[in-house]
Amino acid sequence: PEHIRNAVVLPRYVRVNTLKASVDNVIAEFVKNGFALEKAKPSSGLLRSNTLCQDEHIPEILLLPSNIDLHDNKLLENGSIIIQDKASCFPAFVLNPPKGCEVIDACAAPGNKTSHLSAIMQNTGKIRAFDMDKRRLQTLIKLSGRAGCKNIEPILGSFLDADPTDPQFKNVEYILLDPSCSGSGIVGRMDHLLVTTADLESEEVEEADSARVASLAEFQKTVLLHAFRFPAVKRVVYSTCSKHREENEDVVAAVLAAQSDFGLASEVFPTWERRGLQIVEGGKLHLTSLFILFYLARIIVHAFYFLLSAHNLIRTDPSQDHVIGFFVALFERKPARLAAAA
Ligand code: SAM
Repeated sequence: PEHIRNAVVLPRYVRVNTLKASVDNVIAEFVKNGFALEKAKPSSGLLRSNTLCQDEHIPEILLLPSNIDLHDNKLLENGSIIIQDKASCFPAFVLNPPKGCEVIDACAAPGNKTSHLSAIMQNTGKIRAFDMDKRRLQTLIKLSGRAGCKNIEPILGSFLDADPTDPQFKNVEYILLDPSCSGSGIVGRMDHLLVTTADLESEEVEEADSARVASLAEFQKTVLLHAFRFPAVKRVVYSTCSKHREENEDVVAAVLAAQSDFGLASEVFPTWERRGLQIVEGGKLHLTSLFILFYLARIIVHAFYFLLSAHNLIRTDPSQDHVIGFFVALFERKPARLAAAA
């Protein structure tokens, strides 16, 4: 049937936790267990059984067959590998906090990006990991413990209640912000719930979700603007697993329009080709005066979004890139403002 043909099957991605093991050691362990190392990802994106390959963009990511059963895997149990989609590794990878710095992971649980930050920082410095959900924060504590992270301080509560002027945050220079989103970019794996691109693209689903997406977008703008208020912050990475422009490029446009301290970083992840949809600085391109003009304008704007792409935003396309649908924007404090803050 149509919906099965349109289903996107992704490889199983694991991230090597460099706090516990090296990429070479993990590959050697798989090879010892009968796996063959492929030089490159097959064009279908799908690995044959008992093969693996190293990711072309992020070296600590390995691709495994979609239907691999990792439940009793020793490397998983001892925290040497972490099941994490490739795209979900982009935020910590592009934020790239240096050793010894202070970081906030604003919406952190269950903590895959937190433990990735911890590995990038080689277990130095300090990561404050906020989450409002007690059960999810417990999972973060358990998983980051298994991963050997020693620089994470879990904080149960809303990031919005963290006062940027509180002296305890005065040295925070990096913020990772991966807030609640519609999840519309999540596509299934063979052994998971099969969500199809046909479902995601259906008008009905879009209509039913539009109020929820609008309210999520409001929340996303609020938390981003809150992140910009921390006095020493140099870089903020924003990400969603949504394919909706409203939660992605529109949020970026709105926060760029609402303040002048932070702009988009250029040259972000240059080896990744797929970029974001075009945004217009200063806000949304919506003509509200006349009903017909509004709809005409929407059609024109949508056409532009597809013709142009915003070079310093990152997007993924599950069917082309073989990863979940994802969006990443990296904000940087503008140099003059950085000097003034120093
Ligand atoms: N970054 C996580 C990871 O990679 O494992 C996934 C984060 S998930 C997309 C969003 C999280 O934000 C949820 O766990 C939710 O409980 C949390 N959250 C929602 N509102 C929040 C707030 N105001 N402050 C802190 N956390 C919040």
